[in-house]
Amino acid sequence: MRGQRLEDGRALKVVFPGVPGGSSGPDFRGAVLDAGGDLLRGDIELHLRASGWRAHGHHRDPAYGGVVLHVVAENDSGALTTLHACGRAIAVAVVRAGGRGGGVPAAFTPPCALAVARGVEPGPALARMARRRLRAKAARVAPLVASDGAGQALYTLVLETLGGAANRAAFAGLARRLPLAALLEQAGAYGERALACRAALKGAAAALLLRRAGLRPLASPSRRLDAAAEVVVRLWPGEDGAGWPAALAPGAPLRAVSGAGLGRTSAIELWVNAVLPVALASGAWAEPGALAQLAALPSPGTYGKLRRLEGWLGGPAKPFGSAEALQGGLLLHAEYCTKGACGRCPFSEGPLAVGH
Ligand code: SF4
Repeated sequence: MRGQRLEDGRALKVVFPGVPGGSSGPDFRGAVLDAGGDLLRGDIELHLRASGWRAHGHHRDPAYGGVVLHVVAENDSGALTTLHACGRAIAVAVVRAGGRGGGVPAAFTPPCALAVARGVEPGPALARMARRRLRAKAARVAPLVASDGAGQALYTLVLETLGGAANRAAFAGLARRLPLAALLEQAGAYGERALACRAALKGAAAALLLRRAGLRPLASPSRRLDAAAEVVVRLWPGEDGAGWPAALAPGAPLRAVSGAGLGRTSAIELWVNAVLPVALASGAWAEPGALAQLAALPSPGTYGKLRRLEGWLGGPAKPFGSAEALQGGLLLHAEYCTKGACGRCPFSEGPLAVGH
């Protein structure tokens, strides 16, 4: 988009093109744009014709309330801006297919891609950022550890993690509504602990507002509650109360939190988002041991929002081939890429390189 102008006359420069959106919502998320000196941060939506915005109902869809740029091949409405029901006027850019400059993202080569092409190895910086991210997670959970103990804190983060993006807050509410000690007490009254745990969790969750629509079967609240029951039974088998699980002594293997109903990806996410932060915050594990465990965990697979960054940092290798590197990538994406920090992030060298 070199030399691109918006329909309202402002010059447009792409600072960061965002990352491809998922199957629903805007086409690119978290872009940073310079519109005649105004810094715009938000999403980008692409259409063949400007009228596609209203034809698809985006004007009244809250999911599109964060769009800052509407890219079209033809401005058939003639309007200088695109309107959303929230009252915002969205900048419009006409980019003709096959024309010079191409589409929005293709015109962007960030400094990190150039650095990797020069031979910069991303691993050490990603590992540093992963360690920072783990310490931040530990700091976040430390007040809960102090007030409710390591066992309840771990149970809370296990539920939050299994709730996923769709039901994280609701599952955290479940941990408050049915604390670990009460759950274990209910489970202990029956012979089949996993069944009893499952029933108790689902009973308590019945009063919660849970999102079910649009989720994969494995991510449905019911399946995630089944998995939570399995984890609880595995970690707190009944003899040791509701404290830090004996099965999670320093150096415990990955399989300590895996089991029936819990896939490998979920088990790795539980280590990264629940076990290690609480282990660190509570002192159950010394920091060198927790960091070594983080470094040893395999990757659960790259998240969709990191795909573009993965391509830029990849070169011939997979940059997010371990859980540690992936955690570093998440922090890099959140603190730099989506903040328009090309030229200032750890992978940038030399002057700001945008618009190439
Ligand atoms: S902020 Fe850094 S890592 Fe992210 S896209 Fe820009 S140069 Fe690459």
